[in-house]
Amino acid sequence: MASPIDQKYDVVVLGAGAAGLMSAFTAGRRGRKVLVIEKSNKVGKKILMSGGGRCNFTNELVDSDNFLSQNTHFCKSALSRFTSSDFVDLVERHNVEYEVRKRNQYFCTGSSRDILDMLLKECGSAGVDILTDTEVREVNSSDYTKGGTGKSDNRFLIKGLSDINRSNRHLEISCDSLIIATGALSIPTLGGSGYGYDIAEQFDLPVTRKYAGLVPFMFSEPLKSVFTRLSGISTLVQIETNGYVFADSMLFTHRGLSGPAMLQISNYWSPGDLLKIDLVPNVDLSYELIEMKNQSDKRLIRSYLNEYLPRAVVLELQSLWFADFSEVPISQINTKDLIKIGNTLNFWHPKPSGTEGFRTAEVTVGGVNTNGISSQTMEVKKHPGLYFIGEVLDVTGQLGGFNFQWAWASGYVAGLAA
Ligand SMILES: Cc1cc2nc3c(=O)[nH]c(=O)nc-3n(C[C@H](O)[C@H](O)[C@H](O)COP(=O)(O)OP(=O)(O)OC[C@H]3O[C@@H](n4cnc5c(N)ncnc54)[C@H](O)[C@@H]3O)c2cc1C
Repeated sequence: MASPIDQKYDVVVLGAGAAGLMSAFTAGRRGRKVLVIEKSNKVGKKILMSGGGRCNFTNELVDSDNFLSQNTHFCKSALSRFTSSDFVDLVERHNVEYEVRKRNQYFCTGSSRDILDMLLKECGSAGVDILTDTEVREVNSSDYTKGGTGKSDNRFLIKGLSDINRSNRHLEISCDSLIIATGALSIPTLGGSGYGYDIAEQFDLPVTRKYAGLVPFMFSEPLKSVFTRLSGISTLVQIETNGYVFADSMLFTHRGLSGPAMLQISNYWSPGDLLKIDLVPNVDLSYELIEMKNQSDKRLIRSYLNEYLPRAVVLELQSLWFADFSEVPISQINTKDLIKIGNTLNFWHPKPSGTEGFRTAEVTVGGVNTNGISSQTMEVKKHPGLYFIGEVLDVTGQLGGFNFQWAWASGYVAGLAA
């Protein structure tokens, strides 16, 4: 991946992930001389791992409501200047095959590598240099605001080590524009890093509270053992916390609960909060059970629940919540107990002990506060030439291709301005 490296570039991009590569070729197409610096040995590691290897690269219906941020309006401008259709156009120009799945999610039909190869081809044709195995240790800026003479040639001086862990060569590069696309804390083995926040602090930009998002939940005993026994089974649920509701599948794991419904709600969950899970959505179970009793239905509760839930799940729930009635026909259970059992299944309130944290989180919620950033260009208002894009910012998408769409859109607008 190494290219001959000069000492001076118009634009340096820190981080060769989704946002960084997008910004790099957008700036390169404008004739800017661009270098991307990546600390890992490979570029785009998260792209390759995304969407179970098929990269859910965007969503047909993108709206600011799909994002969390202290400033919910911030993402609107970039998302409207580079839309999901714009990205799909790019994908089609490169003949990357894709399919639209449930909830308007676009996935590759081949592999995530198709998306990374497409971005790298664009970088190649825009003349972008990419340097891997290179870690930036220091960013210095000439005090542009005091100099105040318009565009400067050497606004930033970047120092670091290239060919890390081997020759450890010292690197010094100056540039006019510096784009921070170092991503966030999730999954350190895929490049997750807090370096972007360090740079933000250096330039007096506050960073909001950060926590693991799109992440599975963990539970303590006795639920942990129940979930371990059910590991690998999934079922459709409706889940709610703090006023947010998602209906999707929930997966039992050996640590707790995962699957799209759980990942979605984790963005809105704080430690100590209960989850409200409806295990049989759209069915008023107390009502149904009483109706069955009135009709002298001789079935057992578990036989009835098997119509809605996997058999193994029903058996575990029976041990937890209605063991005393396991062999009693519905017709012989008193109404009060049927209401209690129905409500427990429709309004289950488990309390997670925590989430699996940044080790497995798909995203970091929170990041560089957007108040100091231009929503049109991602440039730092008080430091011309400095840009923050992608997940390092306090803009976090829901599950469904929204995080990549934010990376593409923020990268694009920065690439047009840098
Ligand atoms: C397993 C997984 C699956 C996902 N699936 C999807 C999906 O299907 N759809 C979706 O929309 N989103 C998905 N996401 C989220 C999505 O991958 C991220 O939101 C997106 O990659 C963020 O892009 P970015 O460019 O801001 O950061 P990243 O893609 O994380 O790129 C940042 C880059 O900066 C590099 N870097 C960090 N520090 C330095 C430094 N000091 N110097 C140089 N380089 C540095 C990192 O090594 C990394 O390559 C997934 C995330 C994970 C972890």
